[in-house]
Amino acid sequence: MSKKIQAIRGMNDLLPDQSPLWQYFEGQVRTLMSRYGYDEIRTPIVEQTALFKRSIGEVTDIVEKEMYTFEDRNGDSLTLRPEGTASCVRAAMEHGLLHNQTQRLWYQGPMFRHERPQKGRYRQFHQVGVESFGLEGPDIDAEMILLSARLWKQLGLFEHVTLELNSLGSPEARAAYRDTLVSYFEAHHDQLDEDSRRRLTSNPLRILDSKNPDMAAMLADAPRLMDHLDADSQDHFARLTAMLDAAGIAYVINPRLVRGLDYYSRTVFEWTTTALGSQGTVCAGGRFDGLVEQLGGKSVPAVGFAMGIERLILLLDTLDLVPDAARGELDVYLLPMGEATEPAALLLAERLREALPELRLQLHCGGGSFKSRIKKADKSGARLALLLGEDELVGNAVTLKFLREEREQQRLDQAALAETLTSLLADESLV
Ligand code: ATP
Ligand code: MG
Repeated sequence: MSKKIQAIRGMNDLLPDQSPLWQYFEGQVRTLMSRYGYDEIRTPIVEQTALFKRSIGEVTDIVEKEMYTFEDRNGDSLTLRPEGTASCVRAAMEHGLLHNQTQRLWYQGPMFRHERPQKGRYRQFHQVGVESFGLEGPDIDAEMILLSARLWKQLGLFEHVTLELNSLGSPEARAAYRDTLVSYFEAHHDQLDEDSRRRLTSNPLRILDSKNPDMAAMLADAPRLMDHLDADSQDHFARLTAMLDAAGIAYVINPRLVRGLDYYSRTVFEWTTTALGSQGTVCAGGRFDGLVEQLGGKSVPAVGFAMGIERLILLLDTLDLVPDAARGELDVYLLPMGEATEPAALLLAERLREALPELRLQLHCGGGSFKSRIKKADKSGARLALLLGEDELVGNAVTLKFLREEREQQRLDQAALAETLTSLLADESLV
């Protein structure tokens, strides 16, 4: 026998027992976005490699070592998107969405990064992202943070996440700060690990992000970008924090929050949790005022964020915050008790679905012995079973069995079945 082909490491199948939870999460997101007036955008999963190199930055982790890049049959270099912002900007520019207008957009879908797979870190993972274009003030930054906070509240996660904030200032202020920082690191060169030494010339701000405990004390004393902001960025940040204060959203200013992508300026933020070990960032974003111009468009201010769906699902599961309704269980399992009643059962199932659009009903297919049918009904997770035998068929009836509680079975009239089911299923004691 030949060897079985398996999925690619770090790329997961979403199995039926998990998909209701994903649908629940996605449903919450979709309603939230429409409540805030954000429109969905869907872009291809594959883009020209140059798009990501030019936007994310040549010396970032993503571009240096995480991208899935390949040549297609024409010899063009293509890349599976490692994130959504670059594609979103490309599409918005290409279709004139940024011309004299503002946009509030959202997207969701798979992203690809060649990282070491572990809990909360995969090679194909999924993000929900939000981007706005054409808005410069801190009001939209605040709105985005409030939008994410509302999602955490809806999901019951709000007490379990912390908002971290920083400002990266203008590119000019950052360049000046970069020099100050490099001098500081050069003075402490012996304390830098290998990764950091490499970054000293390529991306010194990222050294601040290092998780190496041996460098912690030295990093804590490093000059703070927050103390080197230009006046406009300082003002922008002060107005943002004032709005968050007024809205009652607590935050921690983390001067070492720099983000791994090159295109950010001014506001950056992350929502983190301690419940997931080291993969604790569930949502991250910031302002990217320079990106549109960097990709060849007219300068357009922009801000956005992305959240990792897998990490949020893990968090909901870990904290046991999944409502029963989101488990996607059946209400009714309908069983024809023998071949003779199969056609009638099929029609009855359709009649019930017609009458009760909310009803979750599964029809037993595939025959089997009496015992095996009842076993299937039990395993289906449904609350009620309806049995249609020849005797019931003649009497225009069904037999109702309670699958989750000790209660006598009943014979019900088919004509009143929809009403009876409605009242039975409204009875919470059945759950
Ligand atoms: P990290 O520091 O965890 O590597 P990042 O800064 O690379 O995160 P972003 O590019 O900001 O992540 O992506 C936004 C969010 O997407 C992250 O906060 C995280 O929730 C999620 N995410 C990023 N990479 C992965 C991955 N490989 N697997 C699962 N989720 C991920
Ligand atoms: Mg990363």
